[in-house]
Amino acid sequence: MVSKTKSKNSSIKPKSKKEVTNSISKTDLNKFYNEAQVWNKERNGVRCNLCAFKCFIAKDKAGICGVRKNFNNKLYTSNKNVKAMVVDNVERRPLFHFLPGAKSLSISGDSNSEWKIEHDRLPRITKKFTMEQTVKEAENKKAEVISYTYNEPTLFFEYIKQTARYAHRSSIKNVFSTNGIINTDAIKIIAKYIDAVVINFKASGDPNFMANHHLLKNTDPIFAAIKQLRKQRVHVEITNTIIPQIGDDVQKCRELAERVVADVDPTVPFHLLQFHPNNEFSDLPFTSTSKLEECFDMVERAGIRYAYIGNTIEPHKNENTFCFNCREMVMQRISGNLKSNILDKDRCPHCGVRMDVVL
Ligand code: SF4
Repeated sequence: MVSKTKSKNSSIKPKSKKEVTNSISKTDLNKFYNEAQVWNKERNGVRCNLCAFKCFIAKDKAGICGVRKNFNNKLYTSNKNVKAMVVDNVERRPLFHFLPGAKSLSISGDSNSEWKIEHDRLPRITKKFTMEQTVKEAENKKAEVISYTYNEPTLFFEYIKQTARYAHRSSIKNVFSTNGIINTDAIKIIAKYIDAVVINFKASGDPNFMANHHLLKNTDPIFAAIKQLRKQRVHVEITNTIIPQIGDDVQKCRELAERVVADVDPTVPFHLLQFHPNNEFSDLPFTSTSKLEECFDMVERAGIRYAYIGNTIEPHKNENTFCFNCREMVMQRISGNLKSNILDKDRCPHCGVRMDVVL
């Protein structure tokens, strides 16, 4: 479902497609699980339709994520808590064309599963936060946005849907940072509560990388998700982590950008992220700045209107937003923090064109 690589966003990966055996008492079932959504009954089991794997799950077994489980031929999901909570800003997601400079309460769910969670740098919290308390915390911190991030939010679908509903009632927006391997039926349910989504590609969606690290043949399910989100008027930005040696082909990067232009829209912001060595990829180097700049040129040549370079150790000039028409700088950022914004509402103050920014 997700790659093993680490960027600003989490990565989780099932160990194998083998189902996991689980049995549980009725007391523990009520204590630790809630009934899941987006599934149907089938002969001798249930089918989960949440992500592209569409797992068939026999009684007392779990899907390959290890989170959704069949008890008595009903699909349940772990009763989640928030594992980490940080106050930052939407630029850290990265979202550069959505509520510029907005304060975000960024949370990571706790996945009690065999799926790997990569948010070790974040301060852990031990207090149990109900959905209402999470929203209250956002209000207390004066956050305009709650970001569901750091590990794959699709695994917390029911928790996020409910929390996001409460957040909207308090006029707080919701942001989802995901690998995009979520089925369109699930998007139809959750999109009304989600305001912006960051879709994280890695290695430009290289088929070998997809097969080895996402257990998928290609990026088609991700593009289907992007199209459904846009159809439901959710703001979308894309990241692509360029991974040295195993996913840094500039032509593949151009192909990914060309597909975004052809199948989605050239106005979708496209962020090229530097890879940082971690865990099983600790032997790989950081992506060089020159490689990121080559990819940047390719993405611009493909017709993407707003290309960015980010997640770099040193600040990079291509973190800034330039007007696509007159090429003047309209938003300046340093290391993912907004330093100045001279937009006139959503228009370039120099030439007056709209800059595709959600305010
Ligand atoms: S979320 Fe995906 S991996 Fe998990 S059970 Fe459902 S279909 Fe399978």
